[in-house]
Amino acid sequence: MTDGVNYKLFINGTWRDGAAKDDIALVNPADAQVFGRVAVASASDLDDALAAARCSLSSWSRTPARERGAILTRAAQLLAKRIDAAAAALSQEQGKTLAEAKGEFARAVETFEWNGENAEMLNAPVVIDEKRTIIHESAGVVAAFTPWNYPAVLNARKLAPALAAGCSLILKAAEETPSAAVYMVEALQEAGLPVGVLNLVFGNPPMISEHLLASPSVRVLSFTGSTPVGKQLAKSAAANLQRCVLELGGHSPVIVFADADISKAVSAILDYKFECAGQSCNAPSRILVARPVYDLFVQKLVEATKQIKVGKPNDPATTMGPMANARRIEAMDRLIKDAVSRGAKVEVGGRRIDQQGFYWAPTILTDVHPQSLVLHEEPFGPVLTVAPFETIEEAVEQANATEFGLAAYFFTESVDIQRQMVRDLSAGALSINYLKGVSADVPLGGLKQSGYGYEGGIEGVRSFQTLKLVNAASPLVLT
Ligand code: NAD
Repeated sequence: MTDGVNYKLFINGTWRDGAAKDDIALVNPADAQVFGRVAVASASDLDDALAAARCSLSSWSRTPARERGAILTRAAQLLAKRIDAAAAALSQEQGKTLAEAKGEFARAVETFEWNGENAEMLNAPVVIDEKRTIIHESAGVVAAFTPWNYPAVLNARKLAPALAAGCSLILKAAEETPSAAVYMVEALQEAGLPVGVLNLVFGNPPMISEHLLASPSVRVLSFTGSTPVGKQLAKSAAANLQRCVLELGGHSPVIVFADADISKAVSAILDYKFECAGQSCNAPSRILVARPVYDLFVQKLVEATKQIKVGKPNDPATTMGPMANARRIEAMDRLIKDAVSRGAKVEVGGRRIDQQGFYWAPTILTDVHPQSLVLHEEPFGPVLTVAPFETIEEAVEQANATEFGLAAYFFTESVDIQRQMVRDLSAGALSINYLKGVSADVPLGGLKQSGYGYEGGIEGVRSFQTLKLVNAASPLVLT
C-alpha cells in the first residue's frame, strides 16, 4: 500500500468523512512512521448508520437465505482475488509478516464461503413434529466491534454469520487496522449487498459503543477484545437487554507430559505462539512441563526461540514482526520487569530490540513467582513462562489457575491422561499434541472471564438469530 492512505466511514452505501472532519493517524509498527489517516465518526454519523441499518433490515431479513448466501459466496471470491493487496495493507498496519497476513485473509475467505454455502440450511425451519415448528429469524440490527490483532478473520467471523442470518450491521473496526474491513465492505457491495445493510465506522471506541448501545434498535452486541472492555460493554447492553457475544481475553496453558515428543512439542508451541508476535487471544502463554523432562524441554525451547528471526514484516526471511503498537511494548516491559523483580530468570529475550519500530525479542521466563503479573494478566505478546510440575493434579490446578478459560493445549500419547485432561481443563477449546486455532465451521467460546456466546459454525449463526416456536393444530405450510 502506498503512503498517504485515507480510510473513510461507509454509511448507507456511501464513503464519507466524519461530520466533524476529524481523523486519526495510522502508524506503521515496523518503523513507527505515520502513513495514513482514518476518519472519525461523530454522533450524527452514528445516527445515520443506525437509521441505515434499521431501514434496510426488513427487506434484507426477508431476502431468501439462499440469495444472502450467494452474496457471501461472491464476496468470498472477490476477496480471494484481492488477497495479495489486502494482505500487504494488513501487514503494514499491524506488523504481522506478509505470510501471516495472507494466511489470515485465506481464513477470512473461508469464513465467508462457509457461511455463504450454509446460509440456506441455517435459516431453514426445524420441524419438531406435525404440530410444532421452530423458525429461525434475524435477531435485528447488530453492533460489532473488532480488534487490531486479527482484523481480517475477526471481521469475517462477525460479518459473515450476521449477514447469513439476515441481520444488518454497524461494524466498528479497529482504528489501527482499518483496511481489512474496507476490503470486506467493498467486496460485499460489489457482490450485491443492498445499501444500508452494512455500515462501517471508526473513531472514539467508548463514544461509539455507548452511542450505538443506547439505541434500542440494536439487538445484538458482538465484541472481541479485552475482558475489562467486554464487561463494560455488557453493562451498557443491559439497559436495552441487547444480546451479547463476547470473545474476550485468554491466558492459555500448555501441559507437556513426560511421555511427550519434546522436539515436536517445542516446534508446535513456537510456531503457534510467535505468530502475530504473540498477540492472539488463544496463544499459549504458560507452559507446564513434567519434572523428568523439564530441563531438556527448557534447553530445546530456548535453542529454538533463539532461531526466531525478528524483522520487517515484508522481509521474507522474517519469522516474527514487530508488536502492533507502543502500548504492547509498554505492557511487555511492565510484565517482564515485574516478573524479574520477583525472581524470574530471563532465559532468552526479555527486552525491546533497539531499532525504530515496536520490536520485542521473543522471551522465555523460568522460575516465575506465582504472584507475578505475567501469570495473571493476558500477556498478549511474545513471552512464554515455563514451570515444572510433579503430579497430574498439580498440572491441572496450575493450568486452571487464571481467571481466563479460552484455550488449553497438552502433549501426551497416554489415552488415559488425554481423557482426564479433556474432562478437567477449564477452556472453551482444547488441542492435543498440536496447537489449533479457530475454523469457520466450528464454534469457539470462552469460559470464565474469557466471555460468553459463540463464534463460528452453526452456533456462530445462531448468535445472530432469534427462535420462534410455532404451535399449529394442523401441519404448518410455510412455502
Ligand atoms: P483495549 O482493551 O482498550 O482495546 C481492545 C479493543 O477494544 C480495541 O480494538 C479497542 O478499539 C476496543 N475498545 C476499547 N474500548 C472500547 C469501548 N469502550 N467500546 C468499544 N470498543 C472498545 O486495549 P488495547 O491496548 O487495544 O489492547 C489491550 C488488550 O486487549 C490486550 O492486552 C488484550 O488483552 C486485549 N485484546 C484482546 C483481543 C482478543 O482477541 N481477545 C484482541 C485485542 C486486544
